Amino acid sequence: MAVGADGSSAGAGEGRTHTAVWRIYPGEVVTTLSELNFDNRFTEQLPGDPVDLNRPRQVHQAAFSRVQPTATTAPRLLAHSPEVLDMLGLDPAVAATDEFLQVFSGNATIDAMDPHAACYGGHQFGNWAGQLGDGRAITLGEIVTGAGERHMLQLKGAGPTPYSRTADGLAVLRSSVREFLCSEAMHHLGVPTTRALSLATTGDQVMRDMFYDGRPGLEPGAVVCRVAPSFIRFGSFELARSRDDLDLLRQLADHTITTHFPELGDPSPEVYTAWFAEVARRTADMIVHWQRVGFVHGVMNTDNMSIHGLTIDYGPYGWLEDYDPGWTPNTTDAQHKRYRHGAQPHIGQWNLTQLANAIYPLVEDVEPLQAALEVYVNRFNDEWGAMMAAKLGIAAPDPERDQPLIGDLLDLLPKTEVDMTLFFRSLADVAVSEGDAEPSDEMLLAPLLGAYYDPILLTGDVRVETLAWLRRYRERIAAESRADADRKAAMDQVNPIYVLRNYLAQLAIDDAEKGDPALVNELLDVLRNPYTEQPGRERFSEKRPDWARTRAGCSMLSCSS
Ligand code: AMP
Ligand code: MG
Repeated sequence: MAVGADGSSAGAGEGRTHTAVWRIYPGEVVTTLSELNFDNRFTEQLPGDPVDLNRPRQVHQAAFSRVQPTATTAPRLLAHSPEVLDMLGLDPAVAATDEFLQVFSGNATIDAMDPHAACYGGHQFGNWAGQLGDGRAITLGEIVTGAGERHMLQLKGAGPTPYSRTADGLAVLRSSVREFLCSEAMHHLGVPTTRALSLATTGDQVMRDMFYDGRPGLEPGAVVCRVAPSFIRFGSFELARSRDDLDLLRQLADHTITTHFPELGDPSPEVYTAWFAEVARRTADMIVHWQRVGFVHGVMNTDNMSIHGLTIDYGPYGWLEDYDPGWTPNTTDAQHKRYRHGAQPHIGQWNLTQLANAIYPLVEDVEPLQAALEVYVNRFNDEWGAMMAAKLGIAAPDPERDQPLIGDLLDLLPKTEVDMTLFFRSLADVAVSEGDAEPSDEMLLAPLLGAYYDPILLTGDVRVETLAWLRRYRERIAAESRADADRKAAMDQVNPIYVLRNYLAQLAIDDAEKGDPALVNELLDVLRNPYTEQPGRERFSEKRPDWARTRAGCSMLSCSS
C-alpha cells in the first residue's frame, strides 16, 4: 500500500497491508506514537528473510530480516532532540511520556511498526567483507509526516539480529553519546546527516574491550534512536551484486528510486545512471562539508555510505583540532590512515566506484557510469573551491588566482600546531579595509595568536611564511573593497565557532556515565547555534586543553563501541 503526500492511501491491496493509515496534515502534531502515519514501504516492497531465526547466519535473496528489539532492564531517557520531534510531527510533550521511553529504548513497539534488520555487505578498509548487515541496529518502521517527508526510525544498540556475527548487538553509553551529539551537531552545522531523536540508557551492562588489549570491562548500555529517509547503503547493492542476485539488485534499485528519487522517473538504464550521478553529487557535497568543518568520519567503509549522501554511522569519528590532513581518530586505521581527513575526498570516489560496479548489470554500459563518476570529481572540485573561498571571506571567487592562496595556506597550517576551527574563525578579524597603513607583523598576527597551540613556537621560517601569506591574503581581500564587518559576517556563517571537540564529547560521557546527563544536554544546546558566539559559553570554543592530548576518547578511538 502506498501513501500520498497528504497521508491518503493509494493502491490498496498491493503487498502486505499494515494496521492503519492516518491522515496527518501539514503542520499538525500528534500526541501519541501510535498516531504516527506508518508506511513501511521498505519491508512491503522488498523481499524479507523467509527464515525466522534470530541467530547469526547468512541471509540470501532478502533485503532484511524481521526481528524484535531486546527488552531492557531499567531504561532512562538522558536526552532527546526537540528539532527531530518537530520534524516527525510529534508534540514536544511526547518525549516526557512513558510510551516514548519504552519504544525508544526497545521495550515496546507500536502495532503499525515492522521491526527489522537490513541485509547489506561492504568493503572494509578497501577489502570486500561479504555480508555485514544491521548487527546492532533495528529499524522500527517508516513514517510519512504531514509535510510529506518519509523517515525511518531506527534503534542502535537494541540487541542481536541475524547480522550480529560474533557480537552482542548492543551499544555502550560512550559511543551512544557520541552518535547522539554528533548527529545533531552536524545537522546544525549544515552538514547532511542522519538525525538522532533520543538517547537512553538501558540499565544493562555491556562487556567491551575498549582498548583491544585483552582487558574487557563492563560499561553501561545505551540505545540511540536515529532517523533518516532510509538506511540504504552502497553496501546494500554490493552484496546483491556479489551474490549475482540480479533480481534483488533490481528490486533494491527500483525501490530506492521510486521511493526516494521519484523525480528521476521510472527505472530504466538511463534512470539508473541518472540516479547514480545524483548519489555522486550528494556524496561530493557531503564530503565538501566535512572538509569545511574539520570532520573526520574515521570508517568510510562502503557499508557506512548512505545512498542519500548523508553522514551515517558515527563510530570512531573525530574533529580536527590542530589542522593536520594526515590525521585519523581511528586506532584501527592508525597504520595506513586510509580514512585520514585529507583522503576523504578520494575515498568518496573509491566508494562510488564500488557502487558503480555493483549496479553495472542494471545499466550494462560502462561509459555512462564512468561519466556519472566524473560528476563526483567535477562537483567536488567546484564546490570545494567555492567553499574554501568562502572560508577565506572571498566574495567573488577567482579560481585561478585563489587556488595558490588556498593551497599555500593548507600547506602552511600543518607546519605548526594551529587549531583549525579557531584559525578560520579568527581570520575574519584580520583587518583589511580599515586604514591604509601596512600593519606591523605583530598587528597582523595578533587576532590569530589564540588559535596556536603554542604561540611561542610560531618562530623562524613558519612565522615568516605565515606573515607572507597574511600579506597576500590582505591584498586579495583588499581587491574586493568589502567592509571588514561585512566580510566577517559572511565568514562567520561558514566558519563555526563551536564544534563537537573530541574532549568535550568525552567530558559529557564522563558525566553521563556517572548518571548526570546535564553536559550532554548543554552541549546539545550549544551546538544548536554553532556559528553564533554565546556569551558565558566561551569554554565550549576553547582549543583542546593539554590533558586531552593523549587521553583515550579525546584523541584516538577504537571501533570498540
Ligand atoms: P560499523 O563499524 O559500526 O559500521 O560496523 C560494522 C559491522 O559490524 C556492521 O555490520 C555492524 O552491524 C556490526 N557490528 C558492530 N558492532 C556490533 C555489535 N556490538 N553487535 C553486533 N554487530 C555489530
Ligand atoms: Mg556501519
